[in-house]
Amino acid sequence: MRILATVAEMRNFRLEASDPVVLVPTMGALHAGHAALIDAARQHAGAQGTVIVTVFVNPTQFGPHEDFHRYPRPLEADCELCRAHGADAVFAPTIEEIYPPGDSIRIDETSLSRGLCGAERPGHFAGVCTVVAKLFLITRPAAAIFGEKDYQQLAVIRRLVRDLFFGIEIIGHPTVREHDGLAMSSRNRYLTPEQRQLAAFFPAALQDATMEATPELITARATKLIKDNIGSAPQYVSLVDAETLESPPAAGRPAVLAAAVKIGDTRLIDNVRIAPRDAKI
Ligand code: AMP
Repeated sequence: MRILATVAEMRNFRLEASDPVVLVPTMGALHAGHAALIDAARQHAGAQGTVIVTVFVNPTQFGPHEDFHRYPRPLEADCELCRAHGADAVFAPTIEEIYPPGDSIRIDETSLSRGLCGAERPGHFAGVCTVVAKLFLITRPAAAIFGEKDYQQLAVIRRLVRDLFFGIEIIGHPTVREHDGLAMSSRNRYLTPEQRQLAAFFPAALQDATMEATPELITARATKLIKDNIGSAPQYVSLVDAETLESPPAAGRPAVLAAAVKIGDTRLIDNVRIAPRDAKI
């Protein structure tokens, strides 16, 4: 497995890489959720194809008071995990490689990124779109894999690829969870043992709320369960159309119940799908 630090090295590797190239973009601090994405990438690429994992903590997607500086960066362990899961290359560039001095282009998705996390984190999805577009152009993959845990991000990236004609297949991967249902996240390591116990109520609240009959009852129940069990109000709870993210979803459309909650200083997001037949919505 090659470890590449510069755009020039990555481009040279790409020239020799055998098709199809499948990309797994990450911010590192890799866990079993990322590992599942790398396994899926390997499966998609086949034995002959090339799996590239990018590890880059992207400064432009963090707000001024967010956790950019304390975000964990265990690069050696990350490379070990990538190697163990059959990646062919890890691209781990510096900030200056991706944003050279004078860099001034930003890509702003103007619809899907306005609600949910976008409302709480202004500029976040412009940062995501910009870095993902750069990574796509540097690595030129046939396909890229993203987790459904970051549901809005997946929808925004599908739109990025559609609207800018990237011609890259975007593959969504189901959320990988801990034994108690908590979605795996690099940020879970910020939680104290007590907070970690409370965090399990978050996915349980979303799952429980899907039993309700209308969008209003579903969001009200999830909000109440989160407040009662975790002790803090969610940043948002929203039932949205699985594709357009419109809220509430039209009757009969596949929907997603998405939410964010802060436990102490740690912000957690999660979502559950609601098939039209399950919800009387
Ligand atoms: P991150 O390193 O948090 O930016 O995540 C990199 C990629 O891994 C994104 O596509 C995430 O959606 C995905 N991911 C993170 N956590 C999980 C998880 N628990 N299950 C599935 N995918 C995940």
